This record gives sequence, structure tokens and C-alpha cells, in this order.
Amino acid sequence: MHHPPPAPDDDSGALFGLDALPTGSARHTPDLPGAAPAEDRPGPAFRDSAAARRLLPVREIHAEPAAAASPRGRQVIARFPEARVVTVDSHWRIPDLHGNEGNVDRWVRVKGETLVLGEKKTLTVRPNGRSADWIAPGASNGCAMACAYCYVPRRKGYANPVTVFTNIDRILSHLARHIARQGPKPEPNQCDAASWVYDIGENGDCSVDALICDNTADLVHAFRHWPTAKASFATKFVNPDLLHLDPQGRTRIRFSVMPQDDSRLLDLRTSPVAERVRAAADFVDAGYEVHFNLSPVVVRPGWQDAWAELLRHLDDVLPARVKQQAAAEVIMLTHNRDLHEVNLGWHPSAEDVLWRPELQQPKRSENGATNVRYRNAVKAEAVDALRALVDRHAPWLRVRYAF
Ligand code: SF4
Repeated sequence: MHHPPPAPDDDSGALFGLDALPTGSARHTPDLPGAAPAEDRPGPAFRDSAAARRLLPVREIHAEPAAAASPRGRQVIARFPEARVVTVDSHWRIPDLHGNEGNVDRWVRVKGETLVLGEKKTLTVRPNGRSADWIAPGASNGCAMACAYCYVPRRKGYANPVTVFTNIDRILSHLARHIARQGPKPEPNQCDAASWVYDIGENGDCSVDALICDNTADLVHAFRHWPTAKASFATKFVNPDLLHLDPQGRTRIRFSVMPQDDSRLLDLRTSPVAERVRAAADFVDAGYEVHFNLSPVVVRPGWQDAWAELLRHLDDVLPARVKQQAAAEVIMLTHNRDLHEVNLGWHPSAEDVLWRPELQQPKRSENGATNVRYRNAVKAEAVDALRALVDRHAPWLRVRYAF
């Protein structure tokens, strides 16, 4: 998984309650960063391309009425004029849509051809401390890609298309207040030397979200104005439109990479790993901080050789300006019994490497699901081995944490 460990629920109870908003404040206000209207920005090109349409040939939009009527909702509906709009009471449970029934063709179709528009009701900022200092309330939930180990669909089932949260203004004002309350970061930590880091893409992929609407752009723009904070998100998709957002160093993009053979088996619909690596220099030049997620690390025969090859590839192709600012997270595979059962139905060869009971132990997750992770000794040995490989083949790559 290229994202931090699972969220219990994107709408779960508030850790930091939402301060009362004055009536009507859920619209853009002049002093709210990130409020530049879409039409003031450089025209996006990639999201109108055939490649983007192939990933998201949207035919149906399930929308809560208020979400459909909102400016962001109207933007999404206008982007896909041929899509049928279906009214739903709640974005959270749509029985015809969510679930594990059917086969992968259906799931992939649902992920590409369907969007959901909803309003995020409960806004929370949760402490993390590993990948980021804080997990921000996400502006989406779900993903158009289909990685076999992904935790994102665990609650809604594998047929889990992107839900766009249309009340981005409320998300931004909630973040603004949280950031203001923290003040400057008192001391450096591995998340960042100077800024509080907020993960903005825990339950989806912000690069893909940017094909759909301006939520990602609004977040990137907002963080430009918050000198004590930095946005961060992991991605497996190269979206060149993000190069026009001028993040001014306040957004960290974390390209998730894994050996090509693992990726071919396990990552569906993502950009090829070599493309993600190639994009790193362009993103640095465009003003992003670029880190790498070495994740998930899947222990299988030959895994160390495969990672050595990938690290040598990073060393060969990345220019000095990328290496100088790069850092990495190492995340060992976490899997899940239900997902294992689902995958056996459509992609059993993935389970040959993902489901290794002889190497794994149960791990009770926050939401009560039965997850598995590598046994302590297996994991410790694998983490040491991977760190040694980084030292040997990509010594410039600082490992921020290995988990
Ligand atoms: S790219 Fe999408 S499907 Fe793959 S791990 Fe990330 S959220 Fe899950």
C-alpha cells in the first residue's frame, strides 16, 4: 500500500471537533487560501486527453442533491456531460454500486465509469507521526485504480469508485483552523524538519482526483499560503496537469514504487513504475518536493534482487536535484483476510505472493477487520535487508521510516 495505514472511517468521529462555522461560510471567502476559481488557472490539458478518458470514461454520477447543486458538484457534472446523474440519499452506502459481487471486469468498469458526489459530514484531523504528522480530512474516498493489496475498498467493497467530496471549502477552512492552532512546528522530526506535514490523500489518489475536479488543485494552492504546514500525498499515477499548480515547495508528492514484476502482478490501472520514476524530475522542477514510497514491500522468492534492481534504476535515472531532496518511506505489506478471499476469485496469482500464512501474523485493525502483517522476526529481517539495499544502491536516499 502506498498510503499510510488504514483509516477507520472517512466519516468517523471527530478528534478535533469542527468549530462552528458561521451560516453560509461553506462558500469560498476572499481570505480563504485556495479559493482561486478554476477558470483563472492555466488550462488543464491531460485530463481532457484520450489517456485520461480511458481511465475515467464516466457514464454515471451518483450524487447527493446538495452535492450535485454545489459549485464543485456542478463542475464535475459539467466535465462529464454524457454521464447520467442519479440522485442518492447518501454517498456512503449505495447497494447497487459498492460490494464485492461480480468479477473484476465489473469492478474495473464501476471504478472507471462511475463517480459519486457527496458532502463530507464529519471533518477530522488525526495524528499520524509516521508518514505525516497529521492525516487531513480527505477530499475524496475511493480510487479509479485497482491494486490487489489496496486497503481503500475494505469498507465499501472492491467495486468502490471515487467519491468526490464537494464541500472542499469546509475541508479547507477546517484545515486552516487546525494549522493555525498548531502554530510553528517546535522541533524537527522525521516527517519534516520545519513544517507540520498533512497527508491529504489517505483514502484515494490525489493525482487521479485531479482528473475529475479541482479539489487537489485547491488543496495544493491552499498550502502555499500556510508557511507552517506542508501537504503530502502518495500516488501511483502520473498526472502532468499537476505540473501547472505551482506548489511553491509546500506540497510533497510521494511516488510509490515497487519492482516492475511485482507492479505488473499487483498494480492494476496505475502508471508504469518507470514512468513514475521518470516524472520525478519534472515534479521537482515544477516546485514539488518529491519523495518515494518503497511500498508495499512484498516478501517473495527473489524479492531482494528485484528491489536491488529497482534501487539501481533510481540511482541511474534520477538527476542530482531529485536525489538531493529525496527521502523514502518503507512500508511492508499489510494484507487482509476478506481481501484475500475476494482476490482468490479473480486474481489468485496475486495471492501466491500476498497471502503467506507461514510468514504472517494477524493484526487487529482499528476498525476490527482481520489484517495480517509479516511476523515480527520476518519483518525485522526484511526491513534490515531493504535498508542495507538502499545503503548499497541508493545511498543518497534517506529512509524517513520503515514500517
Ligand atoms: S492507487 Fe488506488 S487502488 Fe492502488 S493502492 Fe492507491 S488507492 Fe488503492
